[in-house]
Amino acid sequence: MRPERVSKLARLLVKSGSMAILAPSSSLFYLLGLDLVADERLVAGLFWPDGRVDMVVPALYAEEVASRLPGIEAFVWNDGENPYGLVARRLKGMAISEVLVDNGMWAEHLIGLQGAVPGVKWGAVTPLLREMRRVKDGAEIDALKKAAGIVDRALAATLPAIRVGMTEKDVAWNLEREIRENGGERLSFPSIVAFGSNGALPHYRAGERVLREGDTIVMDFGCVRDGYCSDITRTVALGTPPPQFTEVYDVVRKAHDEAMKAVRPGRPCQDVDRAARRVISESGYGKYFIHRTGHGIGLDGHEEPYIVEGNAQPLEEGMTFSIEPGIYLPGRFGVRIEDIVVVTGTGGVSLNEYPTDLIRIKAARGE
Ligand code: ZN
Ligand code: ZN
Repeated sequence: MRPERVSKLARLLVKSGSMAILAPSSSLFYLLGLDLVADERLVAGLFWPDGRVDMVVPALYAEEVASRLPGIEAFVWNDGENPYGLVARRLKGMAISEVLVDNGMWAEHLIGLQGAVPGVKWGAVTPLLREMRRVKDGAEIDALKKAAGIVDRALAATLPAIRVGMTEKDVAWNLEREIRENGGERLSFPSIVAFGSNGALPHYRAGERVLREGDTIVMDFGCVRDGYCSDITRTVALGTPPPQFTEVYDVVRKAHDEAMKAVRPGRPCQDVDRAARRVISESGYGKYFIHRTGHGIGLDGHEEPYIVEGNAQPLEEGMTFSIEPGIYLPGRFGVRIEDIVVVTGTGGVSLNEYPTDLIRIKAARGE
């Protein structure tokens, strides 16, 4: 349990005159340090405006909750019983007019709760939690740094193993194995490994395409360590890349570097997007940069702040987000370079240390 975070949420709940019910999610982990998975059995953390927390849990979690959260009262239900009624009994007589739930709550649980607890207003607790999680503390930044180091090492170990004849899935599996061997607990999202023209599809996954001499390779992948996510993209070439590739690579790299330089506390988020976009537009590739420059990262792979035109929210020390400009030439190739940065007192520092120079892998044949 993280008492200072729970008290902060309680203060926000008092302000809005509500209580919150959280299902297993990154936010429940953020508040209680409890890493459970949301499923068909209702698990609910009841957060009251006076700072108390109750848990409603199925019997199979009772032991774990009791030992990990000794100060919290657990209300246990058995398979076959109605857990929503148990929550309703907790709320009875509490003078609560509004109940807030998080995105991690399954719709069928929310509908069950709404049926059992009539006469209250229902809303989203997400904005309050977003507000709390936007700026990371020192321990969180250390965890993000650790996760970034794992993907840096996984990339360094995988590149020398890439051979003509491998499929995208082969390369993705290499990355995943190296993530696990370097201390990553799991992937933070399905890896993207895109050869040649597949690289022009920003959210392609990894398929059966076979690597040939002259292909470019976009690799975008991440892991989770101690609950925190990493996310890195590098684009490399196998042998001699297609015409225009080196020019495009240099533009994307410059956009990445300019965006990095634009990071400073107090500056609006959109300035970082503008810095990257200006470089790409001035080089004539503006219409091929088809997504925002970045997204926040923490316990979730995508969270606040979003680095996008229209977001005037000022950068604050302790915010962490990706900088990932890209140029995608349909039917030909794509280039994206992505690092995670943390806002410091004076600027921005990359948590990834893997270089961004263009890497040309030798086109050795596989055995
Ligand atoms: Zn990525
Ligand atoms: Zn990303």
